[in-house]
Amino acid sequence: MSTTQISSESRSQYSAKAYSAASATSQLIPTVISRRDPGDHDVQIEILFCGICHSDLHQVRNEWSVMPTVYPCVPGHEIVGKVTKVGSAVTKFKPGDLAAVGCLVDSDGQCPECQTGLEQFCPNLTLTYNSPDPHLGSVTYGGYSDSIVVKDHFVLHVPSNLNLAGVAPLLCAGITTYSPLRHWGISKGKKVGVIGLGGLGHMAVKFAHALGAYVVVFTTSNNKKDDATRLGADEVVISHDEHQMKKHICSFDFILDTVSADHDINVYIQLLRRDGNITLVGAPDKPHAISAFGLLFQRRSISGSIIGGLAETQEMLDFCGKHNITSDVEVIPIQKVNEAYDRMLKSDVKYRFSIDMASLKSQ
Ligand code: NAP
Ligand code: ZN
Repeated sequence: MSTTQISSESRSQYSAKAYSAASATSQLIPTVISRRDPGDHDVQIEILFCGICHSDLHQVRNEWSVMPTVYPCVPGHEIVGKVTKVGSAVTKFKPGDLAAVGCLVDSDGQCPECQTGLEQFCPNLTLTYNSPDPHLGSVTYGGYSDSIVVKDHFVLHVPSNLNLAGVAPLLCAGITTYSPLRHWGISKGKKVGVIGLGGLGHMAVKFAHALGAYVVVFTTSNNKKDDATRLGADEVVISHDEHQMKKHICSFDFILDTVSADHDINVYIQLLRRDGNITLVGAPDKPHAISAFGLLFQRRSISGSIIGGLAETQEMLDFCGKHNITSDVEVIPIQKVNEAYDRMLKSDVKYRFSIDMASLKSQ
């Protein structure tokens, strides 16, 4: 890729290296995809690292009935890299700048959600992968690739003091946990529970701790106790231990559920105090069964949350720069991506895989 500025809108294309899955039961394998050449408002990014989100696994294996996968699928929405080209109308980036892209690459810009900086709720949003591609007519392809072209509004600035491999997961795991913690006013004096110490969960612990809350981790894994404490938890509860769970009845202001698989949330609802809230960010396909009584008593509430808008994502990145927060990552070459999926399913990653895209370029 050259690093010259381009001046006119164009739909010409170039080839990029990527990894894609051909079906729900296929492995991810090397491929070549088309990317549009950058138009006037576009930023072309050489991808340096891309995190592996559990959503990538759900999507590649077609586990979400509400969002069927279009194949071939190139996943990846935790992208960090270096700007290589910008369109003539782009003012906030120049070649050589660090840049990041999360789960969104476009939205209509007109609806009330977009107007208030909540692009994640736009009815016409374009996801980074598995969305209809308004430019090339096929489907969008994500960050398991050596480059990407994205409209400037959806490209974020990266604080210069942070390790880039650990920055990549902030673009999904980071904002997905930061946003509900901010929405629900988490601050000093609040008791916050985090269910599941995975990619999202470990970021939630770091953020809730940095916001001053008293943090309790609920985990199914006995071996994560020390890590949870190191990450900022004040207490760790092994969730299948009824005795440990009972000690926390009616005590939480807020609980964030990051679990990726089917599980019983009623046991956590009982742990909320009056007017407490449990927010779901984990996205198992199977619907939850919820006891009405758990909510009626104590006027508890249950909510959901999905990623965050662009302004809040930038706020989160700046917060991370200020507090020196990144994701704890295991850096892998892209050739190990299938193994990484299997390990993620076994909760065998501390706490996010980050793909070093140099491994794709040299392939
Ligand atoms: P992850 O790294 O695999 O972490 C999930 C954690 O859930 C595991 O580490 C494990 O923690 C716990 N867990 C797994 N299976 C469980 C089971 N059967 N019962 C109880 N706990 C279990 O996944 P992630 O990348 O953090 O993503 C988590 C979920 O959030 C996924 O469903 C993903 O699609 C979704 N997600 C949603 C958004 C959004 O915007 N709402 C964004 C990104 C991801 P312990 O070992 O500590 O028990
Ligand atoms: Zn994600």
